[in-house]
Amino acid sequence: MRPRELEPWFTAVSALKFVGPSTTEALARLLRLTREVEEAQSRPPVLRDLLFHMPVGLLDRRVITPVADVKTGDYATLEVEIIEHVPPPRSRRKIPYRVVGQDGTGILILTYYHVKDNYLTRSLPVGSKRIICGTVSMVDGQASISHPDITAPPEKAAQVLRLAPIYPLTYALTQRMLHYAIEQTWPRVKPLPEWLDAAFMRERGFSSFTDSLRRIHAPVDAVDITVDGPARARLAYDELLASQLALALARRMVQRQTSYRITHSAKVEAALKAALPFTLTKGQSQVLADISADMASGHRMVRLLQGDVGSGKTILAFAAMAQVAAEGYQACLMAPTDLLARQHLETLAPLAQQLGIRLGFLSGKMKKAEQAAIRANAEAGEFEIPIGTHALFQENVAFKNLALLIIDEQHRFGVGQRMKLASKGITPHLLQMTATPIPRSLGMTLYGDMEISSLTERPPGRQAIDTRAIPFTRHEEVVEGLARVLAAGEKAYWVCPLIEEQSEEDKAAMNLDLAAAEERYKELSARFAGKVGLVHGRMKLAEREKVMQAFAHGDVQLLVATTVVEVGVNVPEATVMVIEHAERFGLAQLHQLRGRVGRSDKASRCILLYHDPLSQLAKSRLNILRDTNDGFVIAEEDLRLRGAGDMLGTRQTGMPDFVLADLAHHLPLLRIAHDDAKLILNRDPDLLSERGRGLRLLLALFEYDAAITQLKSV
Ligand code: ADP
Ligand code: MG
Repeated sequence: MRPRELEPWFTAVSALKFVGPSTTEALARLLRLTREVEEAQSRPPVLRDLLFHMPVGLLDRRVITPVADVKTGDYATLEVEIIEHVPPPRSRRKIPYRVVGQDGTGILILTYYHVKDNYLTRSLPVGSKRIICGTVSMVDGQASISHPDITAPPEKAAQVLRLAPIYPLTYALTQRMLHYAIEQTWPRVKPLPEWLDAAFMRERGFSSFTDSLRRIHAPVDAVDITVDGPARARLAYDELLASQLALALARRMVQRQTSYRITHSAKVEAALKAALPFTLTKGQSQVLADISADMASGHRMVRLLQGDVGSGKTILAFAAMAQVAAEGYQACLMAPTDLLARQHLETLAPLAQQLGIRLGFLSGKMKKAEQAAIRANAEAGEFEIPIGTHALFQENVAFKNLALLIIDEQHRFGVGQRMKLASKGITPHLLQMTATPIPRSLGMTLYGDMEISSLTERPPGRQAIDTRAIPFTRHEEVVEGLARVLAAGEKAYWVCPLIEEQSEEDKAAMNLDLAAAEERYKELSARFAGKVGLVHGRMKLAEREKVMQAFAHGDVQLLVATTVVEVGVNVPEATVMVIEHAERFGLAQLHQLRGRVGRSDKASRCILLYHDPLSQLAKSRLNILRDTNDGFVIAEEDLRLRGAGDMLGTRQTGMPDFVLADLAHHLPLLRIAHDDAKLILNRDPDLLSERGRGLRLLLALFEYDAAITQLKSV
């Protein structure tokens, strides 16, 4: 299925020398952090993934510096003669092994901890010359380098004296391991036929795809690795063009697809409205009418419903499902986490009962046997509406007659997955819901295969959330305020940041964050005995759920949490959201968190506790949040700030994750790619020309396999 030219690109990294099982595992973790397509995550990392791992900086090893000229903190390349080895005394293991070198201008000390002596006497024999690279510190006026990156004989000068890219890492990986792995890929990957327009490439100063990759991993100039440089821009353009072609092909596919014809039943609608304790807003009714019209048309619905947190999307999902159930078909609702899926089940169960609809539940967290039983039931059509996590969606779940699939809050469910879903021969109507709106200006370009509905108003009676930024030095006042809120029987969240575990250093930072959250919990528990709960990402699921339940239905009135409360948790009595270290959160994330309150007719507050000094960007973020409650405005502002270099919380935005493209920099390229893709498919609808064949490779390289199946075969 995959074109032969691409085989080397999809060779498993384990084929490389010195990449064993543990390194493969570490690479899988590292490369997963930056990949969009979820299904791709389940395969082992391949050479392509390694080459798509972009450096974030450079070490300049081009020039040899005399020892006399270095100072503390310099990253230096030196050439010295080894004159002496000083092993530590046997009894004192805390003293490093020292190797002394000199270059005629001064003495350089190399220090090593926990290194086998014979390794050092072999690699740094007395009397030999060595090129040494590393970060210098001056100790008692003497230059020293601890564990130098490089100790190479002068014959290796050509390989050493150059720019070395610095990569993001996870633990169990080093720069050296990545360099060595990447070096080994070059003889394997052969140049590919060009798929970009020659004039466009000239105008932009682009070189070929493989050359651009090589420029980035073996840079000869600082500009080679910059995000705006031509090498990175070329790769970004390729990725964006592939996505735009896939979207256009997906759109073409959807327009040709038919699906179950679900005639709208006024009776079901009336029954639902009678069962609801509120009336639908005008916006909700409009969206529902759109969905009904889509599903009745005989064509397949593929629709994105975006609406701010709390705008009332769930009930629309249910209304659509009820219509489908009334026609004797199944509908399915999928949420990203077990917690959210259960919450949906809880909210919808009473409604379903009143309407005589049977619900089922499936989560990957359930026991295997239990899961199997639920699967069997789904297959037999035992449930009209299965609700669950993505476990519902794995290959081995079959439905009797699935006519509607609803995907809640799954940002990463990209065009590739949408197409794959359809190409399996099932074409249920698809409704994707998200509370992280994408900027209007990007709707067409990022979700071009879908119709978009937006809920822009909130349910009536909701008051705007009063948002304030307060320095942490005044947090005692905030605690006093909480005392009044809790006394009135209301509930509150206190959110602490928790860094995502990515590297050895982050692990330490994560532990610090956890300790801080626990500390806060202790402090608040002392003040509000018996009323405080703690949830964080490292707790066992069952334990976490117990606390969440106690917060939703029990005695816990104040929930101290790391960001697990982020998406979708619904506790209407909560009226205060305190966010500690608010400066460490991204704009979209802050807005999501704030959306946990303001869910009833009571006045709600959001308090952004920050630590000085605030950066300019952090200040802008907090100001925007204070000034508006509108998720659509916030999405636009987020994009604007990203243009200004804001990197916080990228994963929380509604935008797809690109690996090579960074929309803060490459937005103009996205627009060009959008037009380019249209033009290409107008002229060559099945990509049969020579360039077209190149573009097929491009699609395959970015794993838009389902898009390729939409093309006439060559
Ligand atoms: P989200 O869009 O974030 O998924 P939900 O569907 O969870 O929002 O709705 C948030 C809350 O608002 C729920 O408690 C829901 O019952 C309530 N709600 C939804 N629509 C209305 C409405 N038209 N009037 C009053 N309350 C509503
Ligand atoms: Mg929701």
